[in-house]
Amino acid sequence: MASAQSIQVLPDQVANKIAAGEVVDRPASVVKELIENSLDAGARRIEIDVVAGGRKYISVRDDGPGMSRDDALLSVERHATSKIRDVDDIESVHTLGFRGEALAAIASVSRFTLTTRRREDLEGTEITMAGGRILDVRETGCPPGTQIQVRHLFFNVPARRKFLRTEQTELSHVRHMFLVYALSHPDRGWRLTVDERETHRLPEQSSFQERISDLFGTSYADALRPIDHEREGVRVHGYAGLPRAARSDRSEQYIFVNGRPASAPVLGHALAQGYHTLVPKGRYPLIFLFIELPSGQVDVNVHPAKKEVRFRRSGQVRDAVIEAIRSALSHPGDSATPVPGSEEPADPAAGAMTEGTLIIEDLPVARTFRYPRMPSLPSLETGADAYAAPTGTGGEEENRDAPWSWCRVLGQAGGLYVVLETEDGIVLMDPHAAHERLLFERFMRQIREQRVQSQGLLSPESVELPPQDALIVRRNMDLLKAMGFGVSDFGGASFIVDALPQCLGNLSALTVLAEVARGLDQGGTRAGTEGWAETQVARAACRAAVKARDRLSLQEIEQLVIDLARAEMPYTCPHGRPTLIFMGFSELHRKFGRS
Ligand code: ADP
Ligand code: MG
Repeated sequence: MASAQSIQVLPDQVANKIAAGEVVDRPASVVKELIENSLDAGARRIEIDVVAGGRKYISVRDDGPGMSRDDALLSVERHATSKIRDVDDIESVHTLGFRGEALAAIASVSRFTLTTRRREDLEGTEITMAGGRILDVRETGCPPGTQIQVRHLFFNVPARRKFLRTEQTELSHVRHMFLVYALSHPDRGWRLTVDERETHRLPEQSSFQERISDLFGTSYADALRPIDHEREGVRVHGYAGLPRAARSDRSEQYIFVNGRPASAPVLGHALAQGYHTLVPKGRYPLIFLFIELPSGQVDVNVHPAKKEVRFRRSGQVRDAVIEAIRSALSHPGDSATPVPGSEEPADPAAGAMTEGTLIIEDLPVARTFRYPRMPSLPSLETGADAYAAPTGTGGEEENRDAPWSWCRVLGQAGGLYVVLETEDGIVLMDPHAAHERLLFERFMRQIREQRVQSQGLLSPESVELPPQDALIVRRNMDLLKAMGFGVSDFGGASFIVDALPQCLGNLSALTVLAEVARGLDQGGTRAGTEGWAETQVARAACRAAVKARDRLSLQEIEQLVIDLARAEMPYTCPHGRPTLIFMGFSELHRKFGRS
């Protein structure tokens, strides 16, 4: 017996069990490691079976190259890997695994069977292990490829077994893992069987779009916009969910770095920034993000289970992601790159209905107007008022990025929402939210360019504010002046307002000041960051300006729709509420059982 103080090198079996604590913490991580091995081996088809959430049984079978008997025996040894040879290789590793730990670790905490055969061999090899000890090695007949079966995970580590959650929960983690890899490898065929019931069967050679539709259905795909962006050697592509499709947690954010599912704090921040003002706090956009950069620029070695990556130049990655998201969402759609599941735009003249068109004879004809397909750099220089008459710019220069070429106002619902028809479907617009978005962008642009125009009031207004609001306004006098508000302090809670930013139009000084004070009051943690106060003021002022309008002409509505197409962020108002809700004809056809 060794005394308590003496140092000993741990026997491999103990070391493996400890390593297993890092690599294997639940059935889903076993599934992950085995899938990665199959992918690294170049398998075309991967089949996964789990029983009881993976607690009782996990099997991953592939049609890859298989292993010789000697290699199979080596593969379950600690630090046995065919993927790197020395330290320098870690820098340029392009396989999913390279630590040589997974098989040894999994085998040390389960009853483990590895069955493998190379195509050229007549017989395969089967290795049976329990708790890391080899029980049996024999020749066996089996199909080419490799199958690993894991029974009774953690049977010999009761402490860890106790940490497992319900079968349901473990299964949902396994499923998530499956989705992550099936998504990032649409070229491979996949099957998932849960408690002997097949839940997914995905064909080989799919495109990414097909894979998304297969996994989530086509209606899901309608809420996605393609991302494709490159900046300083960092390529960002995939799909960004529209703000309306945001979720209450991050479970639908699929992020891959050089093909590996990965997370990094900087990516979370980049997403939040990319969607800033588009998605309210506590909501998480749906996203499929693939980030590609030279392998020397990213360290995948920081986390034993390779969950977290570190970037050499994280600022660059962050900026690339923010830009990529912003530009994906900047236009209501992109006709050049089809969104998965969306149909080819129909000929406007023929309408979207091809089969079963119905004419209602005495329906009043609604005017169709051209929706601007404009140059991609939008210009908002159409005048001071968002509701100015159409200038005709929509006609000649076409914007390939705009989703529709024509549009018509069908009417209004609920005394508020505008119902539009386009070549692709029905669109509902909240005119207040839309107007707010446009005003906000124009105002922010003028602020950025320091050319806010102030308009003097015919008769200066005296405004009495609640004490708290008065305090806030007083504290921000300089800012307000710089933003075109002519405000002077009259002592106590009184102010005199003699000018307002011109772009806001006619509105009551009291309403706008009260709204602005409230906006500045909602500081929270972001208060004090650069540009925060301006943004708050602009947002609040625009809300006040929009509230003041209660009447719109049809022409103004049309102009609103046209201007929205040119907005930087057309989908939500500055407070994060949606401006437009789409219902594509493909979705309608489906709902009516036509397709
Ligand atoms: P790593 O993946 O880090 O190399 P593993 O313990 O996961 O370490 O696997 C050890 C080795 O076993 C791999 O390097 C590979 O050579 C071999 N191997 C594992 N799984 C498979 C498989 N499905 N097909 C072919 N070879 C495999
Ligand atoms: Mg591995």
